[in-house]
Amino acid sequence: MIAQKTVQDYIRTIPDFPHEGIMFRDVTTLFQDPRGFRLAVDQLLSPFVGETIDAVAGLEARGFILGGAVAHQLSKGFVPVRKKGKLPAATIEQAYTLEYGEAVVEIHDDAVQPGDKVLIVDDLLATGGTAEAGIKLIERLGAEVIGCAFVIDLPDLGGRTKVEAMGVPVHAICVYE
Ligand code: IMP
Repeated sequence: MIAQKTVQDYIRTIPDFPHEGIMFRDVTTLFQDPRGFRLAVDQLLSPFVGETIDAVAGLEARGFILGGAVAHQLSKGFVPVRKKGKLPAATIEQAYTLEYGEAVVEIHDDAVQPGDKVLIVDDLLATGGTAEAGIKLIERLGAEVIGCAFVIDLPDLGGRTKVEAMGVPVHAICVYE
């Protein structure tokens, strides 16, 4: 019997991108494969089946591809958390720390309603700075983040610990030590 490929089997690693010493986990090879993409979306969702979810929020940019598919699967709406300056209507913003410097993400101030239960989706959890900023934005609008779902977790960078310390459960399909 031929073993079925796992989600991890579809992910490509590119050494020294975007800087020397970085092992970039490239999920485009997962997205471009019909079976791989469906497997990833199904596995992102699986721990949350049966939970109340009012909306899915995706973190720019690969979180849009995954989050859109997850929202469609759940028949729920999709909310983008975008880099500053991209959203056209009134927003709230949240700064967070990068390896070098700071970045700012935004959400439309009417994207979710107080009391909504929101699932956050992205491709990869590293330091957790991006996810933390997304959680803060949704919580500032009065909604609740019921979980964060990632294709990849890099546990050595501490993101899971940071997000779980905010009281938000983390689900990741693959772990790269
Ligand atoms: P964090 O804020 O440090 O957790 O970084 C996570 C963000 O950086 C996510 O939005 C990812 O898309 C992106 N990212 C960092 N490293 C990689 C990688 O190796 N592959 C794909 N995305 C990455």
